[in-house]
Amino acid sequence: MRLPVFSPKFTAIAALVGLINFNSVHARTATSEGDEAQITDPVEECTAYYYAPVTDALDGFPTIWQPASILSNDTEALNTWANISQSVPTNIYPHGDIYGDWNDTSYNVASDPDCWWTKSLCTTPKLSSLPADIASIPEPETMGYGFDDGPNCSHNAFYDYLLEQNQKATMFFIGSNVLDWPYEAMRAIDEGHEICAHTWSHHYMTGFSSEDAFAELYYKSCIQMKAIKLVLGVTPTCWRPPFGDVDDRIRAIAEGLGLQTIIWQYDSFDWEEQSGNITAAQVYANYDNFIAKAGNGTFDSEGSIMLTHELNNFTMQTAVTYYPKLKDAFKYLVPVGVALNKTQPYVETNYSLPTFSEYVAGTTTTNSSGSSNSTTSSGSSTSQSSSAIAALSHTMDSSLLAMIFLGIFVLAV
Ligand SMILES: [Zn+2]
Repeated sequence: MRLPVFSPKFTAIAALVGLINFNSVHARTATSEGDEAQITDPVEECTAYYYAPVTDALDGFPTIWQPASILSNDTEALNTWANISQSVPTNIYPHGDIYGDWNDTSYNVASDPDCWWTKSLCTTPKLSSLPADIASIPEPETMGYGFDDGPNCSHNAFYDYLLEQNQKATMFFIGSNVLDWPYEAMRAIDEGHEICAHTWSHHYMTGFSSEDAFAELYYKSCIQMKAIKLVLGVTPTCWRPPFGDVDDRIRAIAEGLGLQTIIWQYDSFDWEEQSGNITAAQVYANYDNFIAKAGNGTFDSEGSIMLTHELNNFTMQTAVTYYPKLKDAFKYLVPVGVALNKTQPYVETNYSLPTFSEYVAGTTTTNSSGSSNSTTSSGSSTSQSSSAIAALSHTMDSSLLAMIFLGIFVLAV
């Protein structure tokens, strides 16, 4: 039996397994954000560590990497949900399951009553109370630069490179990953990247009940102290649905939590390479196609967003390889929030983003009080880009092993 190309169920599992990496036993005591950032051996980077603030708080979260539900003793969450649920439509039902299996659903894509992006690419909700998704960039000749699925444990070489380029990006972090790799998450915000939410466990959101979909976002990024807030001290106001799987029911829940929905227009399919369903060459072709469009004037009146990932060493290496080409093709590469002139990216006011004009004039970060719980600053990396790229290229990739194992399992069933 051959796996169908782009099987949603398989890709859901594949993406998740690629992220599960090392959350089992904490094998070492964490040092500090700065020390973590200095590690150049990807194997060492991805050795799980103990970080007391997270360990001490785990009882207040759903099980890491498992689909979220509201904890029965979490009265704050229950009260928040009771409040938000009043604005969530009850006539939009879950689609398929949380693994993206839609075989049993019959949905009228032509009329698209739910504005279900995954089926129709709809970004303007049918419910007039909801704002449109961010799918493009208002600034001409500009790319909204960002990466999904982090923080990745072996991202130091990639982040070193971004630091050397003075390039900031929007990082869509998964709650479970933030708790697995808190120092890596701290590095991102301390180096000026914008942090948006990417759910608790990275499943298909429209497959959840409304209450569980709320939990997926609540324990990721809500107005209470949850995963990102615990580690970074901030509460995001933006999110990206895994696999782009969003409809008006899920948008209403996100809106209730103050989260702006950010989608994309182009997909590099870098996330798919590890499944073996597409080749590296196809991913490069997708990048090349995006760059060609920038060259032929497609984005002259409105900028764009391409889906790319901090998922594994291939996706990060590809991002490094293509960065100079993107810089050449676009007039500006900026975080999405910067392109939107969203100078207050978090609920808390102690961090801010530069305006678009400030950013392109060279002010890529603004002063902040640095509210992450890190005890030391990451400082500036001393790694060189050449060593950074080399480090990416010779990493072990246990997620690949896990993929192979799981692929055999999926084939078997
Ligand atoms: Zn994702």
